[in-house]
Amino acid sequence: MKYSAFLKLVLTPLISIVAGSTLVMAAGQPNFVLIFADDLGYGDLGCYGHPSIKTPSLDRMAEQGVRFTSFYAAASVCTPSRAALMTGRLPVRSGMCSDRRRVLFPDSANGIPESEITIAEALKANGYTSACIGKWHLGHLKQYLPTQNGFDYYFGIPYSNDMDHVPGKPGGKNALRNPKIEYWNVPLVRNNEIIERPANQHTLTKRYTAEAVKFIKNNNDKPFFLYMAHTFPHIPLFASDKFDGKSMRGIFGDVVEEIDWSVGRILETLRNEGLGENTLVIFTSDNGPWLTQDEFGGSAGLLRGGKGSTWEGGMREPAIAWWPGKIPPNSVIRKMASTLDVFPTILSLAEVSPPNDRIIDGTDISSMLFNPGSEPKRDLMFFYRGERVFAVRKGAYKAHFITQKGYGAGPQKHDPPLLFNLEVDPSEQYNIAEKNPGVIDDIVEELAKHKNALKPGKTQLDERIR
Ligand code: MG
Repeated sequence: MKYSAFLKLVLTPLISIVAGSTLVMAAGQPNFVLIFADDLGYGDLGCYGHPSIKTPSLDRMAEQGVRFTSFYAAASVCTPSRAALMTGRLPVRSGMCSDRRRVLFPDSANGIPESEITIAEALKANGYTSACIGKWHLGHLKQYLPTQNGFDYYFGIPYSNDMDHVPGKPGGKNALRNPKIEYWNVPLVRNNEIIERPANQHTLTKRYTAEAVKFIKNNNDKPFFLYMAHTFPHIPLFASDKFDGKSMRGIFGDVVEEIDWSVGRILETLRNEGLGENTLVIFTSDNGPWLTQDEFGGSAGLLRGGKGSTWEGGMREPAIAWWPGKIPPNSVIRKMASTLDVFPTILSLAEVSPPNDRIIDGTDISSMLFNPGSEPKRDLMFFYRGERVFAVRKGAYKAHFITQKGYGAGPQKHDPPLLFNLEVDPSEQYNIAEKNPGVIDDIVEELAKHKNALKPGKTQLDERIR
């Protein structure tokens, strides 16, 4: 029996016994909105220092809430990063990573294993209604779609918007940089049905936003979880008429500014529905900027590397949390946190016990959100590329055992590992391994402990549809 089904079985009679109290319970439960950008870099928002992309809504969200400066995605590419966000577990445990195929493709036979528990599945036990709007990328076959993974509603594209290239249409960089919707046969799905193919990508952000607003309004009297996973700024880049050609930063800026508008619409809707003070909103991204796309990819700001790599630029993300009345305004958290922490944090705030039959790699960071000056919750971060640990951060120090560019050239092993102090040197420029053998010994020990306890799941990414 699935965990959510088990909890429901236990909870439903309890709720019936305390007849009439269900509504009272519901009124006290917070809502959760998780907004996830795709391939947005650490340096791509106004409030993270971008000089020409205008993001007034996200800047205001940060002013009214908390901005993280050391927040990590759990992987540097889409599929494993999303699996970690949804489950609070390193992708190596669920099998949602591979050394051979880094993400799921339209010919992939598998997806997120049935045994994994998503945020939406866990929240069901406490009466939450959930919607996934946007890019899923945890399996496109029916049994892996959001509606089979705890979500009551799904509207979006099941994998990346540059997949499913139409044979005979222009391909490669030229197509990605001067895109037309008919170059890709990407389906738009509602629940389990394809409703449009190819998806009109120009209007995706606009339509996702309309769907999100509608979902919030329809559920303003009961606890909900909205997972809003934008298709962009993953290339090919498409904006709607109102934004196309308008930003100073070219089409990449147009797309980010439309996402910013979307965030503003969602926060405005929460306020108008009287839900602002009962809703935690988190904004972040799945991985760093796609640097090989030149000006069509984003920027990691002062961080080294980008998407696909375990340098900081591949996995350190902009992250903003908003909950008026609970999170003190204008806060900055410089301590480490991760998308892995979202699962246990949401469950704790929803008063749902985390599953105890498996390892959860995240930590509940709610006390840090409400009191940004409190003690750090996370001291360690493992930087996986596929099934292997490439780097480990402990406190201020990060040791790279293997390095590799996001795309192209093969891996390079380092013995002793490269060592950087990320507080002194966030750009990972000055290797201090020689002067700090004790720090390296300590990190090597942490890595050995982690590997000894690890029971990797069978990879779900390699098998293809025959
Ligand atoms: Mg991505």
